[in-house]
Amino acid sequence: MKKFKACPLFGRCGGCDYSIEYALELEEKTEYVHSLFSRYCPTYETIGGAKDGYRNKVVASFAYDRKGHVISGLYIKGTHRIIEKRDCPLEFEGSAEILRSIRRLMKSYAVKPYDEDTYRGDLRHVLLRKGHKSGEVLVLLVFGNDRYGRKKEFAHSLMDICPSVVSVFYQVNNEKTSMILSSSPIKFLAGQRFIKSRLFDLTFRVGPSSFFQVNDGQTEVLYDMALYMAGLSGSEKVLDAYSGTGTIAMIAAKKACSVTAVESNEEAVAFAEKSADENSIGNVTFITDDASSFIKAEAKRKEHYDVVFLDPPRAGSDERFLSSLIKLSPGKIIYISCNPETQVRDIRYLEKFGPYRVKAVQPVDMFPRTQHVETVALIERTVQ
Ligand code: SAH
Repeated sequence: MKKFKACPLFGRCGGCDYSIEYALELEEKTEYVHSLFSRYCPTYETIGGAKDGYRNKVVASFAYDRKGHVISGLYIKGTHRIIEKRDCPLEFEGSAEILRSIRRLMKSYAVKPYDEDTYRGDLRHVLLRKGHKSGEVLVLLVFGNDRYGRKKEFAHSLMDICPSVVSVFYQVNNEKTSMILSSSPIKFLAGQRFIKSRLFDLTFRVGPSSFFQVNDGQTEVLYDMALYMAGLSGSEKVLDAYSGTGTIAMIAAKKACSVTAVESNEEAVAFAEKSADENSIGNVTFITDDASSFIKAEAKRKEHYDVVFLDPPRAGSDERFLSSLIKLSPGKIIYISCNPETQVRDIRYLEKFGPYRVKAVQPVDMFPRTQHVETVALIERTVQ
């Protein structure tokens, strides 16, 4: 076995929660999920994945070091101080080079790092997203204000220097917040308006604000498991709630009669529709709506679904959604979650107020080295 080597920045950078043998980390994650679910159903061992370069999404913030050189890295929690990060092993290959190019361009274009204390300067953060299989990278530049006037030139130069960068956007975040992005509009600067990400044999369009899982390899593992649990035979009517860029919907569409996907982010839905065309998938309908409002209306219309997939954000679903889901009465519910605590809460609701039982929970390690773990649960209707 390869000897475990700790990252020299562990404990200071804040990006990782674990610095132990990976097998032990997986055991801890399995134990955690087991402690939440063991009273209700069997839980399985966490499926681990590659640790190196798994993150297809990278964020960095900028500052000057003591010598006046621009550095990039992460804010130390609760401070306005940045710890320099050069070659993070978790981040996608090539990301360090792109960040280096951005730092160099900042010098030649006189773009100053934004200072959160004095509100002076320009560039505050950057967000990179890569389609692992396509190799395409999207860059979102986050400025602290809208003063800097040569953003387009900067973007074009970045694309010239880094051929993998095919799409550049920017946003102004002048809020007093530790969040990378603000609520102000994201604006296009150069290149394409999306990158392509491939999962299995399908291609998805991903924009700057649409959600896409951060770990392409483990996403395939997770979706394989979700489909296995669903056991689709080709005749089913399927609902995919919180569908993002339509990944689960399109993968399920190949094995089902029809799929309806509901998602509140307009950008994600527009890209999902395009992707379905590009993948020649004709049996998915995409709806832009709040998942709870949509499912409530579907239940009222007495629509029937055989299988419902749901993959809500960390906060989980809500009672409006879950009570309507019970009325919709699908035979199977496949609940994917990045927060097993809200997942177990929601499953207990379904069991308490509906004829549902959770049959199994499979943890998948989407986020090696962090405390997070993804889970997929199979929930079945007990009364036919
Ligand atoms: N299933 C997708 C996305 C999961 S992330 C995938 O695996 O890629 C959760 C998604 O829920 C995000 O795209 C977010 O925009 C969406 N979302 C959040 N709240 C919502 C709501 N109330 N109604 C519908 N979609 C919502």
